[in-house]
Amino acid sequence: MRVVRADIKGGEGFIGKDTVAGGYGSRLRPFSRVTHVISFLKRWFHDVPSVHLAYLAALAAEAGHEVRYTQGELVEGDVALVLSSIVDYRREGRFADAMRARGVRVGFIGLAAAKMPELFQNHADFIFQGEPEAGFIRMLAGEVPSGIVSSPQIDDLDSLPFPRWDLVSEPRRRLTVPYSGRPAGGGFPLLASRGCPEFCTYCPHRILAGYRSRSVDRILDEIEALAGHYPRPYVIFRDPLFSQDRDRCLALADGLERRGLEIGFECETRLDRLDPALLSRLREVGLRAISFGVESMSPATLKKVGRRPTPPEHQRLIIDACRELGIVTAGFYVLGFLEDNWDSIVATIDYAVDLGSTVAQFKILTPYPGTPLWKKMAPLVVEQDWERFDGFTPTFTHPSLTRDELQFLLGGAYARFYMRPSYLANYLRIGGERTRTLVNRLDRQVRPRHTREEFDLSKAAAC
Ligand code: SF4
Repeated sequence: MRVVRADIKGGEGFIGKDTVAGGYGSRLRPFSRVTHVISFLKRWFHDVPSVHLAYLAALAAEAGHEVRYTQGELVEGDVALVLSSIVDYRREGRFADAMRARGVRVGFIGLAAAKMPELFQNHADFIFQGEPEAGFIRMLAGEVPSGIVSSPQIDDLDSLPFPRWDLVSEPRRRLTVPYSGRPAGGGFPLLASRGCPEFCTYCPHRILAGYRSRSVDRILDEIEALAGHYPRPYVIFRDPLFSQDRDRCLALADGLERRGLEIGFECETRLDRLDPALLSRLREVGLRAISFGVESMSPATLKKVGRRPTPPEHQRLIIDACRELGIVTAGFYVLGFLEDNWDSIVATIDYAVDLGSTVAQFKILTPYPGTPLWKKMAPLVVEQDWERFDGFTPTFTHPSLTRDELQFLLGGAYARFYMRPSYLANYLRIGGERTRTLVNRLDRQVRPRHTREEFDLSKAAAC
């Protein structure tokens, strides 16, 4: 059988799929000078191949089938598996229609198709509902999938083969950029675990399947195989909560050292699952960057959405430790929780600046279908176009902020965070008390200008 795996590219702005927003994907349509620059940089650093398609490639090749890959060109095949997203589902549907017109059976995989099959059904012969591997293994064994096909999670993740990167992407040149954790050209996503054991009600990462982790030996085997093909690879751990188990992280670090594996890597986690000693050990074996959610500076707001707040002192401790160790830090923030108002969002933005992570990402609260928050917020949703559920567009009627105000605050967050001298100092890891004092003084001069501009713009946004 000729199996085509399709990760459709193109479209306006920068699109992230696969493990982004749990699989719903995100799309940054630049709407200000700063977001234009960020969108440009994301193309260089964040355009990574799909780990789920790489797993399917490995399963198909292992079973002796011919494997093909496309990013949108029509290719010959017997069956095509299309990675679904909410942010680009129309383009994915058009591709599926064109393939079916050539006689290819088409199936969709991923969270978007699993939770919103109505967007894909008219373009598909089948949809795998759940993580796709179990359904795909049955298909490789001779089952002919049709309609919505249950594909339960595989509990023993060690039973899966390693993702086959040679079958899903062209080899890309990777360029190390000073002070940047991830090289230009991206890296190799790796899932050391899947799902998340936490209970944040807005989060799509925990709604497709439960939390499971792989054995340390199997992760090390995968890294060793990767390093055999690509010298000194850069590994992007895409687990939603990489350091959930501290001992496991330390065992992984020991294993990397014992096997002499030289890699650079980054991970996403919660700050309360890190401490300076753990960071220092992970740094020794290649940790270059961490990303983490802060979301809101208000503990009461976080509790309302089921998120356990991390004390600010601990957040600062970790950021400071990372700065000292030369680890890039990326903080994630969500604007527009139902409890938010203008002042609380400004306070969160100020907090982000003050916390001083190397970079920050701000998004607008998006109620994703299938999450507990969706059930609560569905009556407030006004956006009719599902592709606008992209993480950066207001989609619902907020109790105290207009759509324009939310959009304006989002733009203000990026301007305030990135257009200040201390951002550059953090990025370049400039420490020292005298320099920091000077930089803080320069910041104080920039701040009134931002405030003036924001005041003018906010009047426009409010009317
Ligand atoms: S910690 Fe919360 S927001 Fe992060 S992945 Fe887990 S459930 Fe989602």
